[in-house]
Amino acid sequence: MQSIQTYDFSGKRTLIRVDFNVPLDKETLKIADDTRIRAAVPTIKHILESGGSVVVVSHLGRPKLGNEPQFSLKNIVAHTSKILGTEVKFAGDCIGEEALKMSANLKPGEVMMLENVRYYKHETAGTISFAEKLSKHADVYVNDAFGTAHRAHASTTVVAKFFPNDKMFGFLIEREIVAVDQVLNSNLKPVTAIVGGAKVSSKITIIERLLNNVDNLIVGGGMAYTFVKASGGNVGNSLVEDDYLETANKIKTAAKAKGVNLFIPIDTVVADKFDNDANREQVLIDQIPNGWMGLDVGEKTSLECADIIKNSKVVLWNGPMGVFEMENFQAGTAAVANAIVEATAEGAFSLIGGGDSVAAINKFNLGDQVSHVSTGGGAMLEYLEGKELPGIQAIKG
Ligand code: AMP
Repeated sequence: MQSIQTYDFSGKRTLIRVDFNVPLDKETLKIADDTRIRAAVPTIKHILESGGSVVVVSHLGRPKLGNEPQFSLKNIVAHTSKILGTEVKFAGDCIGEEALKMSANLKPGEVMMLENVRYYKHETAGTISFAEKLSKHADVYVNDAFGTAHRAHASTTVVAKFFPNDKMFGFLIEREIVAVDQVLNSNLKPVTAIVGGAKVSSKITIIERLLNNVDNLIVGGGMAYTFVKASGGNVGNSLVEDDYLETANKIKTAAKAKGVNLFIPIDTVVADKFDNDANREQVLIDQIPNGWMGLDVGEKTSLECADIIKNSKVVLWNGPMGVFEMENFQAGTAAVANAIVEATAEGAFSLIGGGDSVAAINKFNLGDQVSHVSTGGGAMLEYLEGKELPGIQAIKG
């Protein structure tokens, strides 16, 4: 496998799959948050500075009817030029004659951007002939779009086969892979995973996988109440998946057999309705009165979780401890975030992976005080579950 650090890009044209799927203001079509564009800058600049040229390919939004103008990458060309500090030419389509002529004439140091690759149904279908046409733009293929690495699309996966000896990851994906490796294959101990979020059903695969890799597994969020009910506790109106009570008990048994410390919350903040302004009480998690629902973990739980986290060398966090979107039920999630920051300051490696814990750490403005915040929600979840991501396999294989 080639590496972006050592590959000689000089005089070569590189097709880079990036994730420029940025949010745009619905009316002005101005970029509302350019984090994803900025994240790709190191990879693009590295290639340009090494004497190569770049053809950027990305999707934007979910166009259903073909060329819907609000999803055109033309909307982000000027801003990308500004961020890169160099002119970005716009191709107008992906595989047309003009676009191919433009890439054929690229000089070292030049950048061009293709139109939204999802304007073509062949992209998501992973059509080989479409991928082959895309490959004609370049001598080298770099995938730096972790967020779509779990999709076997033409530009994320299939195209790689046309660059058998000249394909590699960009810096962004490389960092994601290294981060997961650091958690799942760590020599350092103890390793702690905090898995929260709404439902056991959506996290069961990751929990089962983590039981083989961690010393402590903290269960939080809505999921916790299924575990509590499975042990005979009273959970009132809390979120429960009755179909998963047996699964919850199996996880408890497996954790014991594997010597994993499975931490289930002890106390909880309950509300009389699903509302920030609901009446609130703090009770033991297995003694929730009828008519009340648990929307956050309680203080004792927060303290004990923080203790476990602060004594860890490696920490993985996926999913909030409560309904952190509501001010009155965010304390447990904030406590976990702060404990991870403290552990990181003490030298632990911390990975925040998966949609809502990423949203939470950013809400508390702590994203820059942990080791790694993943950019790929669904992709990170699947990677942690141990699935082979097609976009990653295509480069490694
Ligand atoms: P997930 O995408 O599975 O990580 O779930 C995240 C969602 O779980 C967030 O929107 C939280 O508001 C929600 N959540 C966390 N704790 C609870 C709870 N106790 N009851 C209901 N929803 C919860």
